[in-house]
Amino acid sequence: MLLIKDILDQKPIGTSHSVKGWVRTFRSNRFIALSDGSTIRTLQAVVDFEKFDEALLKRITTGAALSLIGDLVSSQGKGQDVELLVESLEVLGDSNVEEYPLQPKKHSMEFLRENAHLRMRTNTFGAIMRLRHSLSFAVHEYFNKNNFFWMHTPIITGSDAEGAGEMFNVSVLDKKNPPLKEDGSIDYSQDFFAKETNLTVSGQLEAELGALALSKVYTFGPTFRAENSNTSRHLAEFWMIEPEVAFADLNSNMDLAEDFLKYVIAYALENCKHDLEFLESRLVEEEKMKPQNERSALPLREKLQFVADNNFRRVSYTEAIDILRNSKPNKKKKFKYIIEEWGADLQSEHEKFLVQHFNAPVILFDYPANIKAFYMRLNEDGKTVRAMDILFPGIGEIVGGSQREERHDVLLEKMKEFSIDPEELQWYLDTRKFGTCVHSGFGLGFERLVLFVSGMTNIRDVIPFPRTPGNAEF
Ligand code: ATP
Ligand code: MN
Repeated sequence: MLLIKDILDQKPIGTSHSVKGWVRTFRSNRFIALSDGSTIRTLQAVVDFEKFDEALLKRITTGAALSLIGDLVSSQGKGQDVELLVESLEVLGDSNVEEYPLQPKKHSMEFLRENAHLRMRTNTFGAIMRLRHSLSFAVHEYFNKNNFFWMHTPIITGSDAEGAGEMFNVSVLDKKNPPLKEDGSIDYSQDFFAKETNLTVSGQLEAELGALALSKVYTFGPTFRAENSNTSRHLAEFWMIEPEVAFADLNSNMDLAEDFLKYVIAYALENCKHDLEFLESRLVEEEKMKPQNERSALPLREKLQFVADNNFRRVSYTEAIDILRNSKPNKKKKFKYIIEEWGADLQSEHEKFLVQHFNAPVILFDYPANIKAFYMRLNEDGKTVRAMDILFPGIGEIVGGSQREERHDVLLEKMKEFSIDPEELQWYLDTRKFGTCVHSGFGLGFERLVLFVSGMTNIRDVIPFPRTPGNAEF
């Protein structure tokens, strides 16, 4: 049995085929648009209503599962090259029109989130699911071609020093009546792992251990943040890609991130043509409701091609602060957070401004040490670290990375400054004692990438079942 994608691509005319799928529409009691999700395109199946029972035809409703057998012929009608002349038709699963939520009309994103168990059957979410798959595949392909090893870092972590955000506690203790220590705090020594554990916020620290043995590794797995930020760019559960490379400094880290992003975007352009075409027109429709100045400057695929073809702009934090300080929105107090002086943490409004200012993806580097994590390599100036963030149009931060502090004494000092117990991270410090070397890596939020490539506006709509504050349905 061929999938609809294969039938439409190969057009094996003149032979009989069996296809299975779900009804999208049935019009004029004659034309079924059948989808099996293998492609965004539907197969037109033509039924001769005189040949079939009226009762059977009545059961061809939107959402019903059908098994069809018939000859594939070239189509007389507009809109498709081939169509299936139905000889045998079986309804595998009925779909009651009165109850089925997805009728062939426009549904709001909010409505579809509430019906996330069915939304993969819509054009938009079908396209996103296929795009997610292709981008994941491209990620693995890129790293495999470049001699990286995929490393499976733990999801349950025993270290509370990852430092990237609030964590979800993992415990099997009786919540109503947990064992207590003498000081009244919970006695985790009686818990499953005999210590306190959490869901990981990042696999980086473990990936560093891998890089310092295998030279080039990457992680690609779920990460969790219990941050109460209800934004269109934050999920409580998201997938992160974290390459880590030994003997690589910040410059080669930036080269890697840029090359990698261009590769996976070009891959999607090449391999998701139909889905991107659809998502592009969806975005145009969505933006019709917005004022001109809030619409995308370029159509989706042109935007992606632009990013794939052009150099990212590399700008130091210090330069960026100068630009921001002298910017119109700063002088006219249009920013919510006015940039007063060097050392300020950049907010998403500033990131958006910089991307617009340079009209390209921007890599910011050499941030003030005190607004970045403890493990980042201290520069000779003693006040900045070898950190980099990549900012994308419409998304803001898509990548955060750094060269890691490889000097044992400096790292130890930094941990003290950040109130991190060196004993907790003895295993991490060990790598700086035995064969330490310059190394670097970055973290890319997979959903931020899918958001960018799909042109969707809310991160909840690029993952099948989003987890956000107050919501863990399905
Ligand atoms: P932000 O400032 O946007 O919250 P962050 O500084 O917390 O990001 P990092 O800790 O550097 O981000 O994580 C690396 C990458 O993971 C980010 O660049 C982003 O792509 C992604 N990311 C971080 N937090 C989330 C989240 N809550 N949901 C989805 N992706 C995220
Ligand atoms: Mn964050």
